[in-house]
Amino acid sequence: MGQKMVSKNDIVNRIRDITGSAGVLFEDGDLEPYTHDEFATDEYHVTPLAVIKPVTEREVAGIINLCSELGVPVTARGAGTGLSAGCVPCEGGIILSLEKMNKVLEIDEENLSVTVQAGVTLSQLYGAIREAGLFFPPHPGDEGAMIGGLVAANAGGARAVKYGTIKQFIRGLHVVMADGAILNLGGNIMKSSSGYHLLDLMVGSEGTLGIITQATLSLQRPPGSMETLVIPFATIDKAVEAVNVLFKAGIIPFAVEFIEHSVISCVEKLLNKSWPAKKGAASLLVILDGPGEEEVLAQAEGVAEELAACDPLEILLAEQKERQADILELRSMIYEALRPGTGELFDICIPRSRISSHIRFLRTLEDRYGISLPTYGHAGDGNIHTHSMNVTFEEGVVGDPVPGWREKHEHLRKELYADAMKRGGVISGEHGIGLVKREYLPENIGENTVAVMRAIKKALDPRGILNPGKIFS
Ligand SMILES: Cc1cc2nc3c(=O)[nH]c(=O)nc-3n(C[C@H](O)[C@H](O)[C@H](O)COP(=O)(O)OP(=O)(O)OC[C@H]3O[C@@H](n4cnc5c(N)ncnc54)[C@H](O)[C@@H]3O)c2cc1C
Repeated sequence: MGQKMVSKNDIVNRIRDITGSAGVLFEDGDLEPYTHDEFATDEYHVTPLAVIKPVTEREVAGIINLCSELGVPVTARGAGTGLSAGCVPCEGGIILSLEKMNKVLEIDEENLSVTVQAGVTLSQLYGAIREAGLFFPPHPGDEGAMIGGLVAANAGGARAVKYGTIKQFIRGLHVVMADGAILNLGGNIMKSSSGYHLLDLMVGSEGTLGIITQATLSLQRPPGSMETLVIPFATIDKAVEAVNVLFKAGIIPFAVEFIEHSVISCVEKLLNKSWPAKKGAASLLVILDGPGEEEVLAQAEGVAEELAACDPLEILLAEQKERQADILELRSMIYEALRPGTGELFDICIPRSRISSHIRFLRTLEDRYGISLPTYGHAGDGNIHTHSMNVTFEEGVVGDPVPGWREKHEHLRKELYADAMKRGGVISGEHGIGLVKREYLPENIGENTVAVMRAIKKALDPRGILNPGKIFS
């Protein structure tokens, strides 16, 4: 990067000319919340030079122009709920926080779409469209996440198995490029064969190719009815293998999650709520949706019939809405319950049929390294969440620190990723590469593929100012 020597004060003053004083933080005390994301270990904390909070796309373009001129790295930040250190600032760089660009611009009921600024949160989006009787199917677990961050990470969540990830719902994006140019990609349209699909290039780009300022997203009518089933099995193997039977029978649930009971007991204590299944070692949580109650109950019967051959211990239907909500909350809060003892959360994605053999491999890792690896996840799409616990974890009880965890974990991580790759998987199914996984990316997707990614980065950001060092070094 060609550098002119400029002081922090010069940079702050010139940015203030663009955004006004209210949009700039530069005192150490104000910067701390922007030094990290949700990734647990504190080695990925960097203090930015300043945090800038633009309110318009023009301001974003002005800031990027200035940073390009001065050679100052810019890291876009949404809500900082990311789990790969993607929005951790670069040394000597600024944070461009989209939090003030938080307007729902248009709900288009004719074309079933919504246009929002990048800083709109998921919960804000759900609230705004609910009033219009509309529904946005993707549901990544943290509703505080912002649309720009969700697009930049191609976030998934439990409903991706039926409806797809965020990618499937993006019709249009506004993006500020590294030279300050504003691109209007796609639009409120369902199809485009009009040149390179640059919109797709921005999905999962983790702030390295452009700053997303606005998105137009597809909406649907909400399902008329939903049912929740909890199905315990004697072993985790039986639980995850049963999922393949459902798909082979043509049943695609709204969500299908696998959860070991040792994990769930930890959340039960946290929430003071109980998981309906008491028998067995693991459960499948199957959520079904459809236009009407009769149809969804018929689907539930279909699930029971298909799974009869898989030795379920029982099939529990949560009829009351409150009970359904409790079950979902117990699943959603697993991360929070394990968080105090989590050193790293993995999110590999492998072919669905190989989940059980991967979990068997995890058990051998636990034995060899003496590190607990509570595991649960999206059984329908092979996206598995494994926590590497830096404390003991037995029968749902978080205990004492594991001696030498850091060093052992480094070896464990290598083996875990190698196993995912051997089974035809990727090291990230939904959280992104960021800083945390970049060292493993070439081995995973191939040196040649990473070389093409680097070439794209160089062409679009020749001075390397947009979130440099993320995805690849
Ligand atoms: C409790 C919990 C549950 C979660 N559950 C899920 C889940 O089920 N599925 C899932 O996929 N993820 C999940 N996540 C991870 C996280 O919520 C997602 O990765 C989300 O997409 C991050 O959004 P954010 O606004 O917080 O982005 P940030 O963390 O702020 O940033 C993420 C990345 O996007 C870039 N970025 C942010 N905004 C922009 C922009 N406007 N333009 C360009 N680049 C930008 C950043 O530079 C960074 O690289 C979970 C996280 C938590 C804490």
